[in-house]
Amino acid sequence: MAETERKYWDMEMEPLLNTPEMREIQWEKLQKAIRYCYDKVPFDRQRMDKAGVKPEDIKSLDDFARAVPYAGQAEFRELIGEVGMDMDKMFEALFGEERLSDLYLLTTTSGTTGVPTPYPFFRKGVERHSDILSRGSWRMGIRPGDRIGVCFGLSMHAAGTPNILWYLDYPGVTLVPIGAEAGTERILQLLKLFKVNVFTGTPSLALHLIERAPEVLGESVKSLGLKILALGAEPGAGIPEVRERLESEYGAKVFDLGAGIGGSCDHPVYQGMHWLADDFAYYELVDPETKEPVPMEHGATGLAVMSPLEPEKALFICNLRITLNDIHQVFTDPCPCGRSGFRYKIVGRADDMLKVKGVPVYPAAIEGVIHAFVPRVTGAFRIVLKERPPRVVPPLELKVERGHDVNESDLPALESEIQEKMHKDVKVRPAITWLEPDTLERATKKTQLLEKAYEE
Ligand SMILES: [Zn+2]
Repeated sequence: MAETERKYWDMEMEPLLNTPEMREIQWEKLQKAIRYCYDKVPFDRQRMDKAGVKPEDIKSLDDFARAVPYAGQAEFRELIGEVGMDMDKMFEALFGEERLSDLYLLTTTSGTTGVPTPYPFFRKGVERHSDILSRGSWRMGIRPGDRIGVCFGLSMHAAGTPNILWYLDYPGVTLVPIGAEAGTERILQLLKLFKVNVFTGTPSLALHLIERAPEVLGESVKSLGLKILALGAEPGAGIPEVRERLESEYGAKVFDLGAGIGGSCDHPVYQGMHWLADDFAYYELVDPETKEPVPMEHGATGLAVMSPLEPEKALFICNLRITLNDIHQVFTDPCPCGRSGFRYKIVGRADDMLKVKGVPVYPAAIEGVIHAFVPRVTGAFRIVLKERPPRVVPPLELKVERGHDVNESDLPALESEIQEKMHKDVKVRPAITWLEPDTLERATKKTQLLEKAYEE
């Protein structure tokens, strides 16, 4: 077998992702990580002191989940309150003095308004992180000879300029930093001129280029000969209709990139993103209401909480049990693509949660099920709330528009199909009120999925 034919980038570690053996490796690493963070990272030490926990008190992964409370926006805001807007002081608290001397690159989010969020990159972290990222690139099929056009905003954190770092040890690829700033005309010209065959950028840019190509290039985007679209920073690559359109217009495979260390696979049906970093970052699910751990079972949903397993080399996930407030659903059964790693889908934000008979339900997860029934439904729907959320007295009530070609007599069968799938995927059996097509208001920006009947 030629070297470039091998299944995984890391043939030693990747077969172990999501296995009991990996749990042992994680526990070994986590004990050292807890010690490091307690000794050297003031933010983590303070949180553990406040909880009355010492590293030696934590004797298992389960202990860890209960002993160290997770930290999110509120805790970070509190820290800013303590240190003020002095970035160096904040860095010292979050990363510790030792790591600060290793600070190599400072980037920020691509936004041009509001207070910029700094993203520090440490030299040791860059090296290790690039090795983990290579796992995803290898799975996407990036190989020697490929040219990668970087079309994210170049000032962006992991996806912009730092892309140049991720491929330093990757064999035979050429990076072409184009940048979203270049504008669609220039992007199309450069992709063509430099014979780029891997595009990385946002899904909305990739969609926009489809429209612009005939005018700028005189031919369709297919003429660019791209083989891979690696998309991220916003949802899109995980939405079946969007993915289908991009794949057929470009004649390329489309991948969804997640948080730098997850990525979707090339199975024809979107399976979520494979988590590729079991040996680098420890992933947990937590019930955002009770703060109790949620077991990592197939289909489980919860707040994603992460910890570094190699804190001296960490990037982005630098502190024990931190959350970005994203709700994930995990799939731990083997993926039909045959590759390792549990998969996760981002189903919403913690603030959006509803609770039906104690079961957490997210509007975005309901949306996912409804969208699976297009064109038999239009896709437009509402969740009707009779009481202030999160508590919902069952059944969960939905208003759903039937599809244009669906007869009244087809509705009972369709309804039970939707209820079955909803029960299987989201663990609730909703009551459905059918609406004529095109009766619900369409929003140009973010559609409000909740109808707050309790306010009327
Ligand atoms: Zn897969």
